[in-house]
Amino acid sequence: MVNIINGKDVSNNLRNNLKDKISQLKSINNIHPSLAVIIVGDDPASKIYVNNKKKACEEIGIKSHEFVLPSDISEYKLLQLIEELNCRDDVNGILVQLPLPSHLNEKAIIEHINPIKDVDAFHEINVGKIMTGNFEFLPCTPAGIMQLLDDYNIDIAGKHCVIIGRSNIVGKPMAMLMLHRDATVTICHSKTQNLSEICKTADILIAAVGQANFVTADMVKNGAVVIDVGINRNEAGKLCGDVDFERVKDIASYITPVPGGVGPMTIAILMKNTVTAAILQSKNN
Ligand code: NDP
Repeated sequence: MVNIINGKDVSNNLRNNLKDKISQLKSINNIHPSLAVIIVGDDPASKIYVNNKKKACEEIGIKSHEFVLPSDISEYKLLQLIEELNCRDDVNGILVQLPLPSHLNEKAIIEHINPIKDVDAFHEINVGKIMTGNFEFLPCTPAGIMQLLDDYNIDIAGKHCVIIGRSNIVGKPMAMLMLHRDATVTICHSKTQNLSEICKTADILIAAVGQANFVTADMVKNGAVVIDVGINRNEAGKLCGDVDFERVKDIASYITPVPGGVGPMTIAILMKNTVTAAILQSKNN
């Protein structure tokens, strides 16, 4: 029978542990973790993500600062704000909600965040550290997936992990984390040939495409572990992942649902990275 991986439970445990840790940091070490979130424009999905992050911060004792900027803000002004936040001792983490309006250079903006405050781990310095395995922060979604696999005692070493998607946010760092844990990794993308056949060889199949029902039952090996990163709306407007959950669950040994799988972990790891940033910065002062 399939095991449904419960991301809500795992993330709640992580948040509770962080809550205890934060209260200790405050009372014993006088460390008060805080996160600045910058949102540009009024994209409804981005607003929901930012509100969820703010709420999650407050629940566990992380102070959150929100900066809502108009969609026509100049790049110069946005860089100025980041510079200001880089210098503030009462801000440990800086997160710029993506995507940004097209007149803003996303790469230049991310590179402006001080790497020690880059709690999304998107800065090139942090990306490089992930490659070498000498990292402080891990990108939230891939790190959340590793935590799910570990909490469910799923073996990684020696397994064939197939990742569909090669974005800088999910696919590529995911591949690196699996490699650090001795998986044999295949990364697939829109130009991959024989995608179904490759997926069918996966012991662990991770879908990060952004298309509802992309992974069908015939693409999955019996007993595979299936991790669904996608966040989509189906024809009925209901939230769903990239995997045809109803059919694939009859073949997989473990599967993450959407919602309630990978999503809650992404926010929990963001909180964890903010706490790590606060501790690192306290050592540098
Ligand atoms: P991107 O759009 O940046 O990347 C999608 C990837 O899918 C690309 O590498 C693309 O290939 C690949 N792809 C597209 N079509 C095909 C195809 N027909 N066959 C094989 N590969 C294909 O998305 P993200 O990585 O940012 O996000 C992926 C999904 O995960 C989205 O639904 C997003 O909303 C969700 N997400 C969920 C998170 C969570 O917390 N649960 C966090 C982050 C993202 P190519 O590179 O060739 O174009």
